[in-house]
Amino acid sequence: MASIFGHVAASTALGFSFFNDKSTWKALLLAGFCAFAPDLDVIAFRFDISYSSIWGHRGWTHSFTFAVVFGAFVAWLFYRLDKDWWKMAMWFILATASHPLLDMLTTGGMGCALWWPFSEERLFFPVRVIRVSPLEIRDFISKWGIKILLSEVIWIGIPGLILVAVSRFFRKKE
Ligand SMILES: [Zn+2]
Repeated sequence: MASIFGHVAASTALGFSFFNDKSTWKALLLAGFCAFAPDLDVIAFRFDISYSSIWGHRGWTHSFTFAVVFGAFVAWLFYRLDKDWWKMAMWFILATASHPLLDMLTTGGMGCALWWPFSEERLFFPVRVIRVSPLEIRDFISKWGIKILLSEVIWIGIPGLILVAVSRFFRKKE
């Protein structure tokens, strides 16, 4: 994982950039949850499912297929009566999909099964710049935390802010 802060920063930037008129607190929270949700798979460790298993960490929940199904489901759950529910679905799908894409930039662990169920191959991007975040909170609060957050500010925070700024600029012109 990138840290929860990195994932939520990404889903928030997506919202302010492409779904600005929909960016209520409720929507931002739900999008943040979607961006974090793939890491609920760490529960697999409790059941002795190995990291390398497709049902383990960074397996099936870190795929585009999961993102589409999960994002659409959350939108259906909370916005199905809204005529713009499909916009929420798009945002939530993008937020969920941003998770494995960020994980694929991290410096540690195994790659993500991005193309599950079509392929179980674990993938990384060729460039890996985000320091991997430990799975245990107590490790995160140690000195690791500062370094991880710093790398996320650089590789997620700044690009996110640029995306928001650029999209605002173009919206003003309309
Ligand atoms: Zn993850």
